[in-house]
Amino acid sequence: MPHAALLPAPVPSLTTDERVRAAYSEGAGIYRIVPAGVALPRGVEELQALVRWAAETRTPLVPRGAGSGMPGGGVGRGVVVDLSPGFHWIAPDWSHRAVWVGASVTAADISDAARPFGLRLAPDPSSGAFATSGGLTATNAAGPRSVRCGSVRAWVDAVEIVEADGTARRVTRGAGRWERFVVSPDQRRLVDARFPKTRKNSSGYALDRYAESGDELDLLIGAEGTLALVTAVRWRLEPIPPDVAGASLGFGSLDALAQAVPFLIALNPSAVELLDRTFLELVRGDGLDLPAGIEGLLLVEFERDTRAAARGVVGDAVRRCTSPRRWIGEGWSGSGPCESSPVPHSRASLRHGARSRSWRTAVCRSSGWRNTSPAFARRPSAAACRSRCSATRATVMCT
Ligand SMILES: Cc1cc2nc3c(=O)[nH]c(=O)nc-3n(C[C@H](O)[C@H](O)[C@H](O)COP(=O)(O)OP(=O)(O)OC[C@H]3O[C@@H](n4cnc5c(N)ncnc54)[C@H](O)[C@@H]3O)c2cc1C
Repeated sequence: MPHAALLPAPVPSLTTDERVRAAYSEGAGIYRIVPAGVALPRGVEELQALVRWAAETRTPLVPRGAGSGMPGGGVGRGVVVDLSPGFHWIAPDWSHRAVWVGASVTAADISDAARPFGLRLAPDPSSGAFATSGGLTATNAAGPRSVRCGSVRAWVDAVEIVEADGTARRVTRGAGRWERFVVSPDQRRLVDARFPKTRKNSSGYALDRYAESGDELDLLIGAEGTLALVTAVRWRLEPIPPDVAGASLGFGSLDALAQAVPFLIALNPSAVELLDRTFLELVRGDGLDLPAGIEGLLLVEFERDTRAAARGVVGDAVRRCTSPRRWIGEGWSGSGPCESSPVPHSRASLRHGARSRSWRTAVCRSSGWRNTSPAFARRPSAAACRSRCSATRATVMCT
């Protein structure tokens, strides 16, 4: 790995400026590695030139979107390639409930564009306001709605990528089985026997999915940019349901909370989010008036075809979770009664508090120079987060 000062500038987008490198030495996680350089390619051709140069000089490239990933995939010693500014375009195909976007386009950008057409991006990661399409795909991001709609994988139809030798190509779902990498029947059996049978697994490549489908897209999604740089994503969208209602349920113990989850899942919620005590203490710091003794809070949301149905199912959820006798009557396992209580705050208010709080936690780790990063410049200030929190605080529980 050449020292930063020795790096030539093969494309106009590459800089070795010390302050810029320092700005890109962190993401939202705890790792800090000052890269050798930072590149901000403006479009596919500049990116291809950069990748070819990196292949020739054996310089590692570290793709990066908004830098909101916490495990540190967006920081490294090589050249950080910030794909968040240079790929901002949207090509809608509303009649097919789909949209092609450049890698820089955020989940919120997509939902904003699709909303007037009654459509939305189904996955709703809490980082959606800033996470880029490239980053969402590379991490197979999920979020509270994944309880019903799964993670990003289920909603990506195709991607455009630049490979390690600089080749740009499109990978479309269903275009071919086992065409790039063959998995033998023995290997498939091994994957089937050994791969963890979890609902979501973000560790390593999605070999289980690939062994099943043979679809290259399944390997690329969740690969954290280790197989290719994503320059564009074709998202499948879903219609926005007619009505939604939600409840915030506080629990005196995590055991009680865990017992409530299967029941709530049986009611077919559209989103479930857990805020634990650590988080609630942070939110309390914002002046949110939560009852004492809450060990965990479940934010549950139900989408239905009518307002009455949405409210009705919230009523069911709240009644069942606040009634120990009915709870036990359903034969739920567990040692004690369900100790839950509805909490007088809207899901939006609490979720926003949670998001801004975790956001602030991430931002608090930064020092002055970090603000020079274009990716971080879009992040809301703590004051902005606080004022938005208080603006939503008056909302009541069921909407
Ligand atoms: C407050 C907060 C809330 C969050 N909520 C959620 C949540 O609800 N659900 C969830 O799943 N995650 C969540 N995250 C984690 C994170 O936001 C997501 O993983 C998101 O998808 C990362 O997008 P990004 O654009 O910030 O990518 P980055 O953080 O910049 O990068 C993440 C990884 O993807 C790679 N990458 C980025 N762009 C590209 C590209 N164009 N091509 C190839 N590889 C690329 C990077 O190398 C890195 O390995 C949250 C994070 C924060 C700070």
